[in-house]
Amino acid sequence: MNVTWLDLADNTPFGLDNLPYGVFSVAGAPERRIGVPVGDQVLDLTAAAAEAAAAFAPLLTDGVLNPLLAAGPGTWREVRESVREWLTEPRYADQLRPHLVPLTEVTTHLAFEVADYVDFYSSEHHALNASKIFRPDAAELPPNWKHLPIGYHGRAGTVVTSGTPVVRPYGQRKPRNVDVPEFGPTQRLDIEAEVGFVVGVPSVTGTPVSTADFEAHVFGVCLVNDWSARDLQAWEYQPLGPFLAKSFATSVSPWVVPLDALQHARVEGPAQDPEPFEYLRTSEKWGLDLAIEVRLNGHLVSSPPFASHYWTAPQQLAHMTVNGASLRTGDLYASGTVSGPERHQRGSFLELSWGGREPFELPDGQSRAFLEDGDEVVISATAPGPGGTRIGFGEVRGTVVPS
Ligand code: MN
Repeated sequence: MNVTWLDLADNTPFGLDNLPYGVFSVAGAPERRIGVPVGDQVLDLTAAAAEAAAAFAPLLTDGVLNPLLAAGPGTWREVRESVREWLTEPRYADQLRPHLVPLTEVTTHLAFEVADYVDFYSSEHHALNASKIFRPDAAELPPNWKHLPIGYHGRAGTVVTSGTPVVRPYGQRKPRNVDVPEFGPTQRLDIEAEVGFVVGVPSVTGTPVSTADFEAHVFGVCLVNDWSARDLQAWEYQPLGPFLAKSFATSVSPWVVPLDALQHARVEGPAQDPEPFEYLRTSEKWGLDLAIEVRLNGHLVSSPPFASHYWTAPQQLAHMTVNGASLRTGDLYASGTVSGPERHQRGSFLELSWGGREPFELPDGQSRAFLEDGDEVVISATAPGPGGTRIGFGEVRGTVVPS
């Protein structure tokens, strides 16, 4: 823990070893600024960098992170080191204090303009659970699952920031016991607790990005709630995969934690058997020991562990570019639903209620199989930092509102 002129609690999730980035505004001043939460305040980095005449200040004036994302690892490190210096050296205190705003007074916004959005399906426990729920007689992983990180292209334009209400979507569904589909609001609205990776540096069409180049392209990590309408999904998904069952909304947390803040959270991913193709092999460990928590109406309903996720972020990045598809600044790719082996580690209601057949009880006496109107879901996470500290990801929050 570094010494700082700020009054920081030892156990703050936003300590000096975290320093994530987001976009915020305050009441009466609607222009969006780049912010760095520290303790229970947010540093207005746009204003602080301008006042310091920092070389990187022009990257922080657009109200989105994209120019900073595009600038690459050298600049990312320079900004991070400057912010740490400003917050630790007492000589900067008087200059910085006017640019610190209480977290409770800020409105956060979507931190980056999302270019393309890809979602994977890389938790072995989630994939096996889904298999058991839908194919109880022949439950196994799809034959390709251990050879490649399965994914689909989602809808970038409906990625929304934490706090955005989610309107229950309409669509087609076909109950098992009837012959014709019906149309109406989804009756099986669900969540997927996921980890998102934000691409900074673009790549060239035709040139795959190797696993070793992960840190040269990916800026940082956020939390994702991949809202899913299971009844719509079941009727529409064959043979081309998810479409309208997921494109209505995908929520992301406001703060993007830079990879540099996650060095103490890195773990060896699970052993992979069979050994993957050469382009999917990694020499550096990039499993991430995130402890995720899912709350429904304030009650903890699941604690999915990310450390055991089968395919890691560098492998997903290498796979989605191996055909020559290029990366753009602001691309977001998500891990896939994070589920562990235990019942209380399942990252979706589909799994928690076992396909809706086993509604689960809440401490207030209510039970749920899928989401009801008015339900609020909050996904949060922390990861190990240096010296026993925790790196906080904040939370991604969303409330279901009627169609
Ligand atoms: Mn998903």
